[in-house]
Amino acid sequence: MPESLYSRSSEGMPDAPEAFPEPTHDHARCVDRALATAERVCAERGRRLTRDRRQVLEILLATHRAIGAYDIAARMDWSGRKPGSYAVYRALEFLEALGLVHRIKSRNAFVACTDPHAGHGAQFLICTGCDSIAEIAEPAVDRAVIAAAGRTGFTIARPIVEIEGLCPYCTERATVEA
Ligand SMILES: [Zn+2]
Ligand SMILES: [Zn+2]
Ligand SMILES: [Zn+2]
Repeated sequence: MPESLYSRSSEGMPDAPEAFPEPTHDHARCVDRALATAERVCAERGRRLTRDRRQVLEILLATHRAIGAYDIAARMDWSGRKPGSYAVYRALEFLEALGLVHRIKSRNAFVACTDPHAGHGAQFLICTGCDSIAEIAEPAVDRAVIAAAGRTGFTIARPIVEIEGLCPYCTERATVEA
């Protein structure tokens, strides 16, 4: 594989292993932590994590990949109700407004937020090898984007950056196979 200007050093794992947790990590802990945060965020805003909202969040939390609304609808337990993507979209809208999930435009899909926050920017590292997505929130990137946009007179509505590449595990595999 050609050395890319943007590639990390080939020695060892990157500085922030939790951004791309090992495939064998205890994901139940990620889920528990995120659900507890979601409950807290909803309580603080005086909103309710209804059954649909919680279910959508749980489906997104089940993976570190992005999932489209139709796939979410297909995984929902509708308990006798007629399955509907409308309910899913409404739940997603609610969760997105609270910063609990993010829309990944380039994938037309959604991911659960790993560190819920509302209103500030985020950068998503999207692995084209395994589709896993890591969210980083680098204040220096936020500041640079805001400053650069400001110089053009542009008003930012959604300071989200989507970056494609290979996660540490796919990078390693690509290196081994090269
Ligand atoms: Zn996890
Ligand atoms: Zn987030
Ligand atoms: Zn990957």
